[in-house]
Amino acid sequence: MAKERKEVSVEDTWDVNALYPNLEAWEKDFEELTKNKSETARWPHLAAYQGKIGEGAGTLSSLLNETNEIERRLYKLYTYAHLRHDEDVAHEIYKNAYDRISLLYFDFQNETSWVQPEILQLPEETFGNYLRDQSLSAHRIQLEKLSALKPYTLTSDKEHLLSLAGKALETPSKAFGVLNNAELKFEPALDEKGEKREITHGSYGLFLQSKDRILRKNAGLSYHKTFASFENTISELINGQVQSHVFRAKARNYPSALHAALTPHQIDVGVYHNLIATVRENLPTLHKYIAFRKKALGVKTFHFYDQYVPLVPSFEKEYTYSEGVELVLEAVKPLGEEYHAILERGLGPERWVDRYENARKKSGAYSSGCYDSVPYILMNYKGILRDVFTLAHEAGHSVHSYLSNQGQPFQYSNYPIFVAEVASTFNEELLFRHLMDRARSHEEKCYLLNQRIDDIRATLFRQTQFAEFEFTLHTYGERGIPLTAATLKEAYQQLNRDYYGKDFELDPEIGVEYLRIPHFYYNFYVYQYATGISAAYALVERLLEEGETARQDYLKFLSSGSSRYPVDLLEMAGVNMREKAPIERLIHRFSSLVEQLEKEICSC
Ligand SMILES: [Zn+2]
Repeated sequence: MAKERKEVSVEDTWDVNALYPNLEAWEKDFEELTKNKSETARWPHLAAYQGKIGEGAGTLSSLLNETNEIERRLYKLYTYAHLRHDEDVAHEIYKNAYDRISLLYFDFQNETSWVQPEILQLPEETFGNYLRDQSLSAHRIQLEKLSALKPYTLTSDKEHLLSLAGKALETPSKAFGVLNNAELKFEPALDEKGEKREITHGSYGLFLQSKDRILRKNAGLSYHKTFASFENTISELINGQVQSHVFRAKARNYPSALHAALTPHQIDVGVYHNLIATVRENLPTLHKYIAFRKKALGVKTFHFYDQYVPLVPSFEKEYTYSEGVELVLEAVKPLGEEYHAILERGLGPERWVDRYENARKKSGAYSSGCYDSVPYILMNYKGILRDVFTLAHEAGHSVHSYLSNQGQPFQYSNYPIFVAEVASTFNEELLFRHLMDRARSHEEKCYLLNQRIDDIRATLFRQTQFAEFEFTLHTYGERGIPLTAATLKEAYQQLNRDYYGKDFELDPEIGVEYLRIPHFYYNFYVYQYATGISAAYALVERLLEEGETARQDYLKFLSSGSSRYPVDLLEMAGVNMREKAPIERLIHRFSSLVEQLEKEICSC
């Protein structure tokens, strides 16, 4: 039985009181923030700016300053309530606080939703003058980024029409969410002893890693059978989602849905195409790995349910939280004393971390905070090696936030999604190297290698396969090729053939795998996992090869928040994601890790 929250010792919890000493203080701040509210608005003084942005740079500047000030305080209120809520999701008082601040934030978004369109409607000349105006210098990069959207901004009546369509266009992804999370039922699967095992999304993932091949197979068949029984419906939902992206892109005169998805994030479509092309050129490396897996498992034919089972016995060492922290701190030593010291304080006396599980605590792990807080970390630390990697990962996010908060004004403190997984996977790679260096036993090395190889496979190759499928879906949508169950299955199976090679059986189940992937409703999101891990790996190599300058560049990147364009942030750190090199480097690394594992396994 997990402990009740009140039984958890203070040093094992995060220091949320550093934000507000108690709920009364939070309530007071909440009241204070909306003290001028009127019948119709929480912040009537913001509404007073509407229609006046064109009057002068000074007007826009004070509007932006005021919205930033409110947003900053909203984040602070939100952070406190959401952390408290996650400590015990059934706690009524904190749940209520969390719901109220979420609503308030929603109101803020509503009451300021006119700002960006009004800025974008400014005449070209006025906009140009504003960019050069001293009073807006603190917001210049923000405005520059916005200016890239000007060519795709419509007249205000058309913009209004588009925003009215918004809710209806969300239907496909919402419908899939309901179906997938609540309504789908799976038949139980028989294991090798003939016993029935319940299939859920969670248990399916675990069964795929089971040594029991009969269970893996039956679980795979049952799971996909359910999705396949809705293949026309789900394909229609995917079609609906794609059509909504294509519609928005066309309405705004973007050359393609891909452009429409990437331009607001300041990413060039070349980055996307470069990823896919580079991975494609190197697919024989993945084919070789599948062949090796087949051999190592000793199976006659290799199926989709043989992809995730570990090739080596699990390495059952346990690490206490302090031992985990010690390993992470040792691992990040190449980043220098300052980095090390920040993290040592954070994982220790500054209490960023909520360490262990307790009753009704939010599951999983994350890093979260705001400009006025430390970057908190939620863990459910149990002491397996995975947990130590998770701690390293979240610590990477947290120090990134910490340094960006220190180095940037509020408006540039949040780093962009494109770079979000770099600092976290960077630390995982450092930890992997550190553990490999100190591994004494053959078993430990094998286990680490196996885990790392499968991480890279899942993050680089699989996400690129998804990215390519997404691109195909949208290209079909744009060219008027019908997106039916038949065309989708054929396109997906072709990708399986290309990605996994001749040793991979093209079972009908894996042909309909696309039906169960929620990411296909995200609008060109997943490629960033693949670019993120490639960038992180290239930066680790650079740090270890070049030393001091590389270290300084990387720390500068961590301190830069969103003060530059996303690809430029990474370039400043020392990696160019428009080029093939970083992706090739990671694939090369993958290949050499596979060779190493092969040697280790053969030497048993
Ligand atoms: Zn992460």
